[in-house]
Amino acid sequence: AGTTIKYRRVLMKLSGEALLGSQAFGTDPSVIQRIAGEIRAAVSEGVQVALVIGGGNLFRGVVGAAEGMDRARADDVGMLATVMNALMLENGLRRTGVNTVTFSAVRMPTICRPFQREEARTALDAGQTVIFAGGTGSPFFTTDTTAALRAAEMQCDAILKGTSVDGVYSADPAVDPTAVRYDHLTYDDVLNRNLRVMDGAAIALARDNAIPIVVFSMHEPGSLVNVLTGQTRCTTVTR
Ligand code: UDP
Repeated sequence: AGTTIKYRRVLMKLSGEALLGSQAFGTDPSVIQRIAGEIRAAVSEGVQVALVIGGGNLFRGVVGAAEGMDRARADDVGMLATVMNALMLENGLRRTGVNTVTFSAVRMPTICRPFQREEARTALDAGQTVIFAGGTGSPFFTTDTTAALRAAEMQCDAILKGTSVDGVYSADPAVDPTAVRYDHLTYDDVLNRNLRVMDGAAIALARDNAIPIVVFSMHEPGSLVNVLTGQTRCTTVTR
């Protein structure tokens, strides 16, 4: 009791790797169900949830380009990978009882709704959980940038970046035991010190639109609701 929700409408960014579980490639259905349960708990608190999912568990444009593909074409494949993840996540959410709709920036109207800003806002207003698939729809961008872009378009109160660690560290805590964790950083700290939060374009977009970025660990049960109520360790990036 006595807990208040800090953010009413959030954009949660999940990387493709978040769906891997213990696998080297693809998606782990039990991980998807666990994430779906976390989101359901947040939705039951009245939080409006928009999701951007990456594709790195399936394909990355830079990897394709390194193997000789045309970069833009490789990014097309990467964007399609994000749609596959989105549809699996959508399925997991619906199974969990979360009313979910997927919008894709890459038009494929027989499979999911083409992204349309007003329609997506209406869905969020109505309490539907919205998944943004297909990245920005343009090559040379990332799903981090997509997250910042959609958060601005949807007028979200925060970007939530669920990771495997409980915030942003001065170095990789898995490698460097002297790594320090930060409770708070500014956008410029992140950019100037090249801290690994989201890519630079995403940080700049969040900064210019004054959208806080909250980095937290997705590993403990209840972590999403706990971050929304300020009851878990996380790093908040603001001005
Ligand atoms: N991608 C793209 N444009 C976008 C978003 C993504 O071309 O706006 C492609 C790009 O090839 C990228 C892939 O989709 O490597 C998967 O996205 P990302 O690497 O951001 O996924 P994550 O690392 O979050 O799993």
